[in-house]
Amino acid sequence: MNPIHPHAFPYIDTLFDYGSFLARVAEKGSIGHLPAGETAPSVAIIGAGLSGLIAARELLRAGVTQVTIYEAEPQRHGGRLLSQRFDEALPEYIAEMGAMRFPPTEVGLFHYLAYYGIDTASVFPDPGVVDTEIHYQGEAYRWQAGMPPPALFRRVDRGWKAFLQQGVTLDDGTRLPSAASLTRALREGRLADAKEGWQCYLDAFGDSCFYSSLVRIFTCQQPPAGGALA
Ligand SMILES: Cc1cc2nc3c(=O)[nH]c(=O)nc-3n(C[C@H](O)[C@H](O)[C@H](O)COP(=O)(O)OP(=O)(O)OC[C@H]3O[C@@H](n4cnc5c(N)ncnc54)[C@H](O)[C@@H]3O)c2cc1C
Repeated sequence: MNPIHPHAFPYIDTLFDYGSFLARVAEKGSIGHLPAGETAPSVAIIGAGLSGLIAARELLRAGVTQVTIYEAEPQRHGGRLLSQRFDEALPEYIAEMGAMRFPPTEVGLFHYLAYYGIDTASVFPDPGVVDTEIHYQGEAYRWQAGMPPPALFRRVDRGWKAFLQQGVTLDDGTRLPSAASLTRALREGRLADAKEGWQCYLDAFGDSCFYSSLVRIFTCQQPPAGGALA
């Protein structure tokens, strides 16, 4: 486990541990600084979503004094983050119309939430971790927290869990290592192993959408858990 940040480890796409970097530089006050003697440039940022706002903050802390954010939406900032109250009399009921579930591995986000004192719910609301209602083909299925999924979804559940732990061998012989083994490699700093394993996914699914990738995984001759989606 990373001693600096318990949830921080390199991202698979960049192989860079941004969480630890943020934790390390937090005491210095900024993630970088302008080279000494250089005139601070004026910076234009397109978009006042979370990325644009954080970029503006970090640029200002790095010594840039002139930052202009251009936002297409005339009425609001936040981009794809949107917390909506429907009834002023019930302000505690909020619907998240955009991002709402943040796994602990989103260390960059949690770094800034902590800095600004923004609280989050402590439970990551995965289906079945909290009370869940699945709507499928016109029917509603209740899934009580902590219980197995409704019967109709148990094979899918088993298949997905098996895939995460064991990976799969596709019909063309491509071996996809398990997500669990890739995560272990990243946590243990075996970045070359993680990169090699992830490359198998990119080669297999680089031109596919998520859905068709799932179909290929779970309808192959030896699918995870023996035919979860068949
Ligand atoms: C329904 C939904 C659910 C989601 N759920 C999750 C989740 O649970 N967990 C999670 O981690 N992520 C989730 N996401 C993704 C997450 O919301 C985004 O990754 C994140 O908000 C992106 O932030 P951003 O600043 O990079 O981009 P955006 O939030 O898209 O911000 C871009 C901004 O740029 C503006 N803009 C674009 N073009 C121009 C232009 N030419 N000129 C001026 N302004 C421009 C846009 O109006 C917008 O405000 C979800 C997204 C959606 C839509």
